[in-house]
Amino acid sequence: MEKAKQLYEGKAKKVYATEDDNYVIVSYKDDATAFDGTKKGTIAGKGVVNNRMSNFLMQILEKEGVPTHFVEEINDRETVVKKVSIVPLEVIIRNVSAGSFAKRYGVEEGIVFDAPTIEFSYKNDDLHDPLINDYHAMALKLATAEEIEQIKAMAFKVNDVLKAYFLKLGVKLIDFKLEFGKTSDGAIVLADEISPDTCRFWDAETNEKLDKDRFRRDMGGVEDAYKEMMHRVFGE
Ligand code: UDP
Repeated sequence: MEKAKQLYEGKAKKVYATEDDNYVIVSYKDDATAFDGTKKGTIAGKGVVNNRMSNFLMQILEKEGVPTHFVEEINDRETVVKKVSIVPLEVIIRNVSAGSFAKRYGVEEGIVFDAPTIEFSYKNDDLHDPLINDYHAMALKLATAEEIEQIKAMAFKVNDVLKAYFLKLGVKLIDFKLEFGKTSDGAIVLADEISPDTCRFWDAETNEKLDKDRFRRDMGGVEDAYKEMMHRVFGE
């Protein structure tokens, strides 16, 4: 499938139309942003890592019964995905305290939860993605009650599958953000990406951070962390 007109350019990806209205092509960039877009930078090779890792994980999830937008990887940076309308919710699952959870509730990072948590943010740049609950999401007509139930069940299933998968690679899945989309026939599918940009990965032995926190916190070794995750997943 060929790229046609560019439809959209986001912080980390570009989206192109194709000859088929049911599909679009996403192209992953090396650009990185954090803190609501106020911190900007480049992580060399990130687009390749995120594209390949996300596609690989989505295929694992499909096999486990989670429908996704994935269709076909074209090359290292570009993938055909189903065209969806994104449900304007960021769905965050946490297994261990970190990031905004630790800050918001005044606890240290690294507390292992007895059960995973779920939270939603309203995807709205002007409002800076405020935290909302299911009732707010329904009141704002962002999704129906049925869609929210489906999204929750899918998000916890993704966690079960990926947590076990990464642990075998010596990586703890601390938390992650998912986005869901609605296809033209109304089905909810997992969309966007699953990558070191959207997940926290800690080495299971040392707790070394292997994700975008190295960029957010100016820790150095950012490219190496992405490369290390590539190595764990693909052995390359
Ligand atoms: N996350 C993301 N995009 C966002 C916000 C969060 O991909 O806009 C991911 C983040 O990488 C982490 C998880 O969601 O794996 C939880 O992030 P948190 O709420 O702790 O926010 P942060 O500390 O990243 O601002």
